[in-house]
Amino acid sequence: MELMLASHNHHKLGEISALLLGHSIILPQHRNLEFSFEENGSTFIANALDKAEALYNLCGVATLADDSGLVVDALNGEPGIFSARYGSSNGQLLPSDERNRLLLKNLEGVPKDQRTARFVCAMALVIAPYRKFVVQETIEGFIANQPFGEGGFGYDPIFIVGSTEMTMAQLSSVDKNRISHRGKAAQRIVALLHNIEQKEIFYVS
Ligand code: IMP
Repeated sequence: MELMLASHNHHKLGEISALLLGHSIILPQHRNLEFSFEENGSTFIANALDKAEALYNLCGVATLADDSGLVVDALNGEPGIFSARYGSSNGQLLPSDERNRLLLKNLEGVPKDQRTARFVCAMALVIAPYRKFVVQETIEGFIANQPFGEGGFGYDPIFIVGSTEMTMAQLSSVDKNRISHRGKAAQRIVALLHNIEQKEIFYVS
């Protein structure tokens, strides 16, 4: 199925295209559409669903959107849904290495057993006005004392995956996709799409 992804983030396009093999993922700009969306929801799920709906209303074809971020227990859940905007002022987003430095500074002195955190990803699929689906997945870990690794993006260098003792940025993209919040959410979307396509064939015949 062709799905339009509500994002301008090329890292996400790469990850999601690799995860939804067999489906064609396009961006609004590939169809000369200008899409901008302000995230006003109070949860990852609300933001993902609102974003997918807004793009569906603009283009009328099946859409996919994700909202994701890092939840740090010792920071009362921050940066959470504000992960992209953490530390920004006057609407100017910080580069991710500066955001990571800020988060590490805000956790200075916090011992390892209290540095627990998780990545969260809500992924929404809209295929018709009354056919909307949303899933949410997480990966548990803790925040490192300093960045490690060159892969991934965003907070990956400071997030130690609980089950591997390596940061997300030290994992290959294949390994990250297999276990990550986005990887697991995408696997569920793949299963949903499979069901939808099977049913569609059943109704037609
Ligand atoms: P949004 O989902 O586009 O609102 O972005 C949320 C922010 O969370 C991004 O800017 C990233 O910094 C961060 N983030 C989301 N997923 C990941 C991930 O897989 N690795 C590292 N950072 C992530």
